[in-house]
Amino acid sequence: MLSCPLTKRVSLQWGLRRRLHSTSSSQAPLESLPVAQFEYWRKVPSWRDITETQFLDYKWQMKNSLQNASSLFAFLESTVPSTIPLANGQATTREDFIADVKAGLQHAPMATRLTPHILSLIGWNDPYSDPIRRQFIPLASGFQQDHPRLQLDSLSESRDSPVKGLVHRYPDKVLFLATSVCPVYCRFCTRSYSVGMKTETVTKKRFLPLRKYWEPMFDYIAQTPTVTDIVVSGGDTFYLEPAQLREIGQELLKIRNVRRIRFASKGLSVCPSRILDPNDRWSDALIEISELGRKQGKSVALHTHFNHPQEISWVTERAAQTLFQNAVTVRNQTVLLNGVNNDVDTMKRLIRRLADNNIQPYYVYQGDMVQGVEDLRTPLRDIIHIESHVRGTIAGFMTPSFVVDLPGGGGKRLAATFESYDKNTGVSKFVAPGVKGNTVHEYHDPLWSLPGYTETRQI
Ligand code: SF4
Repeated sequence: MLSCPLTKRVSLQWGLRRRLHSTSSSQAPLESLPVAQFEYWRKVPSWRDITETQFLDYKWQMKNSLQNASSLFAFLESTVPSTIPLANGQATTREDFIADVKAGLQHAPMATRLTPHILSLIGWNDPYSDPIRRQFIPLASGFQQDHPRLQLDSLSESRDSPVKGLVHRYPDKVLFLATSVCPVYCRFCTRSYSVGMKTETVTKKRFLPLRKYWEPMFDYIAQTPTVTDIVVSGGDTFYLEPAQLREIGQELLKIRNVRRIRFASKGLSVCPSRILDPNDRWSDALIEISELGRKQGKSVALHTHFNHPQEISWVTERAAQTLFQNAVTVRNQTVLLNGVNNDVDTMKRLIRRLADNNIQPYYVYQGDMVQGVEDLRTPLRDIIHIESHVRGTIAGFMTPSFVVDLPGGGGKRLAATFESYDKNTGVSKFVAPGVKGNTVHEYHDPLWSLPGYTETRQI
């Protein structure tokens, strides 16, 4: 057994060393958890011979991530079967599917980046209907006409930035944008205006992960005593070096008025093996900051992002339980997405899987009014219906809040607390007195969901 000032580590039978906060004979060993070790990545032809040790190695995951469109096309050539089903019961060819992806990427606001972990969880025998494929790989055939009220910065974050990279909207909370890079790029990203590489349709407003850009943000927070709550996001804090994550955490904890820090990362969802990799220090840094905060009486948490139960593999479960064993608080923020999770059964299964792995289901968001991804947005009536059927099926403290992040920067409101909702026009109106006084904020359902809608646009 190795020991260090903050954590004790135990070598286990999994071929990996995992971090355990403390051990005693009275604790149930995690090895007894009923998780199957199906080597799901071997379904992908090019990874048929990849061993568990290789697959769980963070460096291998990064080296084999798809970083651009051409590597995605090569991957699809070698992975997608020659014939695949369409939603209408007919079939199409691999070549037609790839042509559909190529045309889709020409109009997408987000660039391509995907980890082997997430690629391995896609059902490639039916990619048209797969809920993970829908989130990351656009298809021209699936595009829907944009609502005229859509924007790339739909939450008006740039307008609420007193310092570049810092969004101050709520009285006591700021958003600290540490980087604009992520391990994967989601099609529906709310920060399409800044996150990832530029695309054919969007030039990005980037945030580089450099101390000189963070200094003015630290100064602003220290000079604004009403700010007690910091969300460190991006991009994804998973893409910070461990030393950078530690530096940001330590600097923020030194500021007297800071009481709560949340690190936002999709890493647990899209590359969970990093948490388990004994050669990588990102989760050590997170655990150290969490422990340092606890010693100071301040809370530090990880906020992650799962949208569908298919994203949770046995590797995910082990990584989540490892964080739990190390006393790291983990909460999840789901985005409600058409054809992915906008049905009661899927949402219930997702929430239960998260809860059973000690990931607190915190928010389910109505999709933001971002340009270029209307096929994934849902009408408000969906979130209200799902909320009413989920509530009561699991403990209240594991029931997420179903919210709309109001366009124009009104902050989050419970979806069911609209002032008015006209289902014929799809317009709902909200007020957020605690954030923006009596200003009315309108959310607009996607055009395709309105009664009598007919498509007028071709791409
Ligand atoms: S991980 Fe988060 S910040 Fe990055 S692309 Fe996805 S939604 Fe956007």
